[in-house]
Amino acid sequence: MNTIKNDFPALRQRIHGKALTYLDSGATTLKPQAVIDALTAYYTTINSNVHRGAHHLSNLATEAYEQARLRVQNFINARTSEEIIFTKGTTEAINLVARSFGEAYIREGDEILVSAMEHHANMVPWQQLCKQKNARLNVLPVLENGSLDMEALPGLLTPRTKLVAITHISNVLGTVNPIEEIIARAHAKDIPVLVDGAQGIVHSRIDVQRWDVDFYVFSGHKLYAPMGIGVLYGKAQLLNDLPPYQYGGEMIDKVRFEETTFNVLPYKFEAGTPNVGGAIGLHKAIDYLCERNLDELWKKEDEVLKYAVNQLQKIEGIRIFGTDGTRGGVISFLLEGIHPYDTGTLLDQMGIAVRTGHHCAQPLMDFYQIPGTVRASFGIYNDMQDVDILYEALLRVKRMLS
Ligand code: PMP
Repeated sequence: MNTIKNDFPALRQRIHGKALTYLDSGATTLKPQAVIDALTAYYTTINSNVHRGAHHLSNLATEAYEQARLRVQNFINARTSEEIIFTKGTTEAINLVARSFGEAYIREGDEILVSAMEHHANMVPWQQLCKQKNARLNVLPVLENGSLDMEALPGLLTPRTKLVAITHISNVLGTVNPIEEIIARAHAKDIPVLVDGAQGIVHSRIDVQRWDVDFYVFSGHKLYAPMGIGVLYGKAQLLNDLPPYQYGGEMIDKVRFEETTFNVLPYKFEAGTPNVGGAIGLHKAIDYLCERNLDELWKKEDEVLKYAVNQLQKIEGIRIFGTDGTRGGVISFLLEGIHPYDTGTLLDQMGIAVRTGHHCAQPLMDFYQIPGTVRASFGIYNDMQDVDILYEALLRVKRMLS
């Protein structure tokens, strides 16, 4: 009996008359009732702005918001809570670093290294920064099996490399990259590393101090929390030296028409009214996961994922991408002779939610010379039965379209 499913009210829906089989957690996870209740409670009672009001509710909002920061600090083992900046999500966190780090440190002729499997969110901001600064975007290649070409890494860490920006787990292939090794090699040359943890934090324990990572970013909505809240972790000494990303309320110290001085961390990077409800929801999501023994949940999720790979491999003419032996959360595939959109549309008719297309990784699609893939991605609520439903449905798709 899968009791976790009961915690997610969205799973009680029927789609096109069929029970929903949700296999799109890589795009966004469903929310447990506990998180929905926490959001409702915030908006029905506290509903105040933070750090400003002299009144009781504002104090409660500030307290809850700062407790959420402490919860995130503890969850990823950051040294201090000032190293946790709340953002809209992964995309905003990366843009923040690109803009701010870029302004401070990137000069003409400098280099930034990304990989060929990056989500556009961890590629386009660096590409545009390089354009503005006449810098160079280098790309660590991907091998056919979906792993990074680690032999190419030393040659790409040059004296001009100012930053490495790399994903922990590929949202397309599921490849789990050797982040510790990449960080160690980059640090040996004094190059800081930003890790895109949008998919990583959802499937594995993150300890930013053990990794010694310089920047780590993720989105709440992929971690069973609401949309519109995310995190930039950065080492305090790095963040302290960076200029603000946005200007306005909250991030200032003293404002005169001649000159403005800025607030301390983390507020320096949190201009304007923050997403207090979202932060409270993220706090609740982390509590929800940890109270249910997250390692155990991930172990089960991994068993379901392995079973899925095993079953899908039995389908004649299927091509599964990412075959290097690592896999976190997702399976991308194509059925021979069938366009991924057609597969996705038919699966939807059968109540199965998957994602089709380029998954915001067009350069990776170009590498494989494909228009896109079908991606089934898994969360803690998925079970073997979901895999059986997908497997049978794909056999039907094949019968209908082959
Ligand atoms: N990086 C990766 C690896 C992702 O999977 C995603 C979301 N698909 C992002 C970045 C962007 O996240 P968000 O849209 O939540 O900002």
